[in-house]
Amino acid sequence: MENKKQGLNTICTHYGELKDTEFKGAVSPLYMSTSYAFDDVEVKRYPRYFNTPNQVALSKKIAALEHTEAALIFGSGMAAISNSLMAFLKAGDHIVLQKTLYGGTYNLVSEEFEKFGIEFSFTDGLNSEDFEAKIKENTKVIYVETPSNPLLTITDLKAITALAKKYNLVTMIDNTFASPVNQNPIDFGIDIVIHSATKYMGGHSDILAGAVASTEKNIERIFQLGKNFGGNLSDYTVWLLERSIKTMGIRVKAQNENAQKMAEYLYENTDVEAVYYPGLPSHPDHELAKLQMKGFGGMLSFELNSKMDSYKFQQDLQLVKSSMSLAGVESTILSPTKTSHGLLSPEERENQGIKDGLIRFSLGIEEIEDLIADIAQAIAKQK
Ligand SMILES: *Cc1c(COP(=O)(O)O)cnc(C)c1O
Repeated sequence: MENKKQGLNTICTHYGELKDTEFKGAVSPLYMSTSYAFDDVEVKRYPRYFNTPNQVALSKKIAALEHTEAALIFGSGMAAISNSLMAFLKAGDHIVLQKTLYGGTYNLVSEEFEKFGIEFSFTDGLNSEDFEAKIKENTKVIYVETPSNPLLTITDLKAITALAKKYNLVTMIDNTFASPVNQNPIDFGIDIVIHSATKYMGGHSDILAGAVASTEKNIERIFQLGKNFGGNLSDYTVWLLERSIKTMGIRVKAQNENAQKMAEYLYENTDVEAVYYPGLPSHPDHELAKLQMKGFGGMLSFELNSKMDSYKFQQDLQLVKSSMSLAGVESTILSPTKTSHGLLSPEERENQGIKDGLIRFSLGIEEIEDLIADIAQAIAKQK
């Protein structure tokens, strides 16, 4: 039954599921035990060791979705990111990170790494030369995020992995924005794929979780650190996440479609100054996105004409909610300057190309006509 050649939605629905042999229920039973009898003295089953039945089952599904041998599930995306980074970096090592990063990752590195003696550099641009320019003798890891938050920049995965090979470096990617539905970085030679499962995997804005997928060997290394740091996800939430992922394929494809149509609408709208969406031919990396992505994703950003008040615009929306986070089945919108990137200094934001009026849009699965009508009425109110 379990075969990685199955298609996306079959993997989402069934892969790794636990069998209810006693009652033959339709879904995986939930095992909440924190105490398990020793089958043999070697196997210590315990939630913090990432090896309860539900954790193991869901890890298999996530590994299959990302075309890897193994995966681990964490209590948050940041737990997956911090554990993966700390497993591959020690005092005296150096990491090169792309300049456009999720705000939390930027904060983790810039606020915490110094005390561990880990050196870091952010790139000046996104070309492989920009990454190469920052590589030092003690560099161990290259970290990328594509498409990035909030400007949807695209980093060339093949160029990054070629560079990593040349310098013998480990590559990590934050694949949250694409989700495994739209991008499988392993197929382009990336070593470690990280997700905030809070986003497209969860998909309903009610689960906080993270995941990392890679080879057995790399996952073992992250596990050895992770069991000491204690960042596992509770089994109940693991079980909910399994349920969410069953519909991830159809959800994300619907979100891709809505984002494409919304991007086209905004692009044609004379009240809109700029639209950032990799599915638009006008996006500078549209061709690259086509090469490495299967769909362009459900996220876009835009700037209204500078005469308009972007904060008031957001308040005037009726269907689209102004809120933190992203990737739920409901459409949400936010101002990166006021929220996700609010902790960055104005200079840091400017360096990442984030203007104060920028609006980040997470498309849900509502009817596109209703979403466009909502945007249109809120724009009309600004005139
Ligand atoms: C949300 C997010 C994270 C952090 O995930 P949490 O689940 O909130 O810890 C990391 N990277 C990206 C791109 C995100 O959107």
